[in-house]
Order: sequence, then structure tokens, then C-alpha cells
Amino acid sequence: MERINSVNDFNEAKQVIPGGVNSPVRAFRAVGGTPPFIKEAKGSYLVDEDGNRYIDFVQSWGPLLFGHADLDIQKAVEEAIKRGLSFGAPTTSETLLAKEIIALYEGIEKIRFTSSGTEATMSAIRLARGYTGRDDIIKFEGCYHGHSDALLVQAGSGLATFGNPSSPGVPQSFTKHTLLARYNDLESVRECFKKSSGVACVILEPIAGNMGLVPATQEFIQGLRKLCDEQGSVLIFDEVMSGFRASFGGAQALYGVIPDMATFGKVIGGGMPVGAFGGRSDIMACLSPEGAVYQAGTLSGNPVAMAAGIASIRKIKQGGEVLFSRLESLALRLMEGFKKCAQKHQIPLQTTVKGSMFGFFFNHAPVSNFEEALQSDTALFAKFHQAMLERGVYLACSQFETGFICASMDESLVDEVIAKIDEALEEIGRG
Ligand code: PLP
Repeated sequence: MERINSVNDFNEAKQVIPGGVNSPVRAFRAVGGTPPFIKEAKGSYLVDEDGNRYIDFVQSWGPLLFGHADLDIQKAVEEAIKRGLSFGAPTTSETLLAKEIIALYEGIEKIRFTSSGTEATMSAIRLARGYTGRDDIIKFEGCYHGHSDALLVQAGSGLATFGNPSSPGVPQSFTKHTLLARYNDLESVRECFKKSSGVACVILEPIAGNMGLVPATQEFIQGLRKLCDEQGSVLIFDEVMSGFRASFGGAQALYGVIPDMATFGKVIGGGMPVGAFGGRSDIMACLSPEGAVYQAGTLSGNPVAMAAGIASIRKIKQGGEVLFSRLESLALRLMEGFKKCAQKHQIPLQTTVKGSMFGFFFNHAPVSNFEEALQSDTALFAKFHQAMLERGVYLACSQFETGFICASMDESLVDEVIAKIDEALEEIGRG
């Protein structure tokens, strides 16, 4: 597969943009080679600047539940654009999207929109601190909540890939209130509580998607709920990735545990830049202008982004549980097929599926936390990624990411990919 234009485009981009990209993982450093520069996309497929076509399991890192350039979402955006791009003043579209999300997520009584998931989690934490009057927060190794300073401590995917536990430029004093616990390990959380004089909140991805796909156990989530209740700390589910992806009602519906606050992003913007944080009204009442905790955004609640979000959520509601079970059965079919190929080629493989999300590790043992994820064979992953890209399959370019099924995929497409997996593993086996 020729990628001459992409190579040239990448070189040109590197002259003016650090690493040639606006988000590090896109540079393909973890897998080598040149990232395809994308010209256009439709449904399940991406097309690069050389005209190569790829089946896309990244789907813009999650937002595109209905695939690329979905006609209903596009139409809603086109209509919104005609009325103006941004007003910096309230619109009814914000109330509409807020109502749609609140109706589907129990415990979310009020919500505020931001322009990214990073802002959503950063603001949720500030609010939890303002509400409780406490400084410390507990986060988990391998969970990523965006790139704000206090959360950039052992944050999975991009950072793990670069072998960087944190980032230069983040003063030690900015993270001194961030306590780190081990995912799926309640004892480590109890230890954090013991060390702290006051924990404002516990934040986690209830289905972690940034150390590869690693769901929390039921016992862990229930234990966190109990600990937070005992300690008067706010429990925050970061559903930026799992919201409207893992199930109709996100992770909280799957576990049947209601957090005090939740953060959203990705799918709720239908491909436009949107994040949100919401929760119990007594907590949300602390937010300015009702309360004293400041948070703002010039483009927050942007009417075009809201229109895309509303169209996306309404389509999800129309699809209902049937949509999610179809997406999940495709993800299961893909992972089952992958497992059979791996067995045939004697390659150790662990797979996970949660709704439309799938994950796999080249690992001998099941993965339940970040440390175990790091035992995976990243060199083999890089080879596999390259071999699949050559065959026109676009997978997330790191072992520590999650794959996404979209509604325009079907069984025959999945079977086509499984055949390519078989070929790729055969080629790798030949050396
Ligand atoms: N939280 C989770 C769970 C995420 O997966 C991400 C991004 O991947 C974020 C927060 C940050 O969102 P954004 O990249 O929109 O800032």
C-alpha cells in the first residue's frame, strides 16, 4: 500500500506542528510508520490522501457511534449552521441536550456543557472540591481523564505508551493532592483514604478504556460507592468514553451503581467538540452563577455542537437496547474470531467486549489493572498494527487503547476483518 502523499503531508506538518499532530497518539510513535492523513470518511471507512481505504475501528476515538458522515447528524449540523455558528448566549438547544442526557442517566439531575472531556473532568473535580471543602482526590493507575495538570498522573494510553508516568511541566505541588490507587483493588483505595486528611472525590473510568479495555469488577464499583458514602466523598464516574458506548445508559446502568457526578464527551457531541459534567443538584448548585465554584467557556454549549449531540442521542434512543445488542454482538464476533486466529497461530491473546467497545492484549494472563496491562507484548502489537494497516484495517495505534464498533458495520465486514487478522498473524509468524 502506497502512502506517499501521507508521508509528504506528515513531513510538512512536522515543520509547523510539534510531531506533526495535535494529539500525540496520532503520530503513530507506538507502532512506527507514518500515520495516514485522512481526506474523507463515510460510514465504516476512512480514505487517506493517497486514496487508500481503511475499515475504521477508531471512529475518531469513540464519538462516531453511527459511523462517519452520518446523514441525520450532518443534516442537523447543516440546519444549525444556517442559523449561526456561535452566539455566546443561551440557546434552547443546550436545554434540549441536557434533558436528553438527564433522562437516560439516573442521578444526573443537572448538567453543564464544555468543549472537551478534559474540561469536563477538570471542572467536575473543582466542583467536588468546592462542594466538600476538601483538597485531595483519588484516581487510578491507568485511568485517563484528559490532560489537566492534577490528573496527569499515571494516566494510561499516550502516557504509558511513551513510558512517561507523568509529564514535565506539571509542578509537583500541582499533583500533591492526587492520590493514586490500583484499579480493581479496594484495599489500595482504603489506604489512600487512610493517608488523606480529606478526600474530595474518587474519580474513575468505570470501564477503563485508556489502558486497553479493562472493566471494573462489580465488587469494586460497589465497594467504591460504599467507601465514598462512609467518607462523605464525591464519587465521579468518568463516562467520557463509556457513556452511550458501553450501553444505552453507559457504565452506571451496567453496574447498577449511581455516582454522585459523571462526566461525558465523545458520543454526546456526535463528532463535534463537546464535553459535559453533571450530577446531583445539591452538588451542581455550587457551580457559578448559582454557587461560588467558577467554571466557564466561550464556546461551551455551542449551538452547532449541541445540534450534532441532540441528533446523535435521539438516534441512540430510537435504536434503543436493540442497537446496543447488535453492536455488542458484532464486537463479540470480532473478538471471538480474533481468539480463534490467535489460537491457530499460537499467540497469547486476551480479549474484552463491553457494548460497542472492544479491547485485546497480546498477553498470557487476563488483565485487571494497569500493571498487568503493561505486561503485554507491545512489540508484537506494533507488528500486528502495521500488518493490519497494510490490509486496510485502521486500529487504534497503541496496545493501550480501545476499539469501537459503529452502527454502519455488519457481520460480513467483521468476517472480512477476521480473515485479514488470520493473514496478518500468519505473516508475523513467518517473521
Ligand atoms: N476521560 C476519558 C475517559 C477519556 O477517554 C478522554 C479522552 O480520550 C478524556 C477524558 C478527555 O477527553 P478529551 O480528549 O475530549 O479532552
